[in-house]
Amino acid sequence: MSPPASWALFLDVDGTLIEIADAPDAVHVDEHVGGLLARLSGCLNGALALASGRPLAVLDRFFAPLELPAAGLHGLERRSADGHVNRTDGALALGPARRELERFAAAHPGTLLEDKSATLALHYRRAADAETEAREVMERVRASLGPAYGVQEGKMVLELKPHRPNKRTVVEDFMAEAPFRDRVPVFIGDDITDEDGFAAAQGYGGTAIVVGLQRETGRTSNAQYGLSGVRELHRWLEALGERLESR
Ligand SMILES: [Mg+2]
Repeated sequence: MSPPASWALFLDVDGTLIEIADAPDAVHVDEHVGGLLARLSGCLNGALALASGRPLAVLDRFFAPLELPAAGLHGLERRSADGHVNRTDGALALGPARRELERFAAAHPGTLLEDKSATLALHYRRAADAETEAREVMERVRASLGPAYGVQEGKMVLELKPHRPNKRTVVEDFMAEAPFRDRVPVFIGDDITDEDGFAAAQGYGGTAIVVGLQRETGRTSNAQYGLSGVRELHRWLEALGERLESR
């Protein structure tokens, strides 16, 4: 791997920086994580960005008062290092799909529709026996929207979203801008969506690190390195901060 001082760090949030909880609003954000991110961002001349399926406003609440460069909603919202926010309006086409998924969630206790405006995430973590039907309804509404939309698989969640942007385009967009440009991207994430970010980072000669993969059966990753979980990543980031500060 290239020297850490030359890195641009891209970090997924759920399952990577914070543990996944039973429901998306039930997560606990360790207080020290914001401080750790601020410290690393300082060492990397600001080249540290979050890449998440969460809205930007939620990421800012998690790590307040820090407002990092970040992609929210898989890149439908993206804040550059200079603070400028780009938003893609993806909400327009989703009306009928939203109503059908709301009906499904109401009829299947334990499932939860997370309405992110531009994307719709159907969670079945509390209703694993509804998975098959959840897949069917998602496939039906996706087909009704045409080829611009896809269903993104996550951990006990199916998310209806446009194919673009995704974590690959997020990395490419940041890498075209200061202070990321001319640095070597290191992308760290835990889920299937992160594989797009991994591929992008590797395309720039960078590195992909997958978190917690060995806990999942049957899934493989194209990442070159792995960390066992959120806590191990926190320790790794702390060690990275020490290494960067001691230069
Ligand atoms: Mg994740």
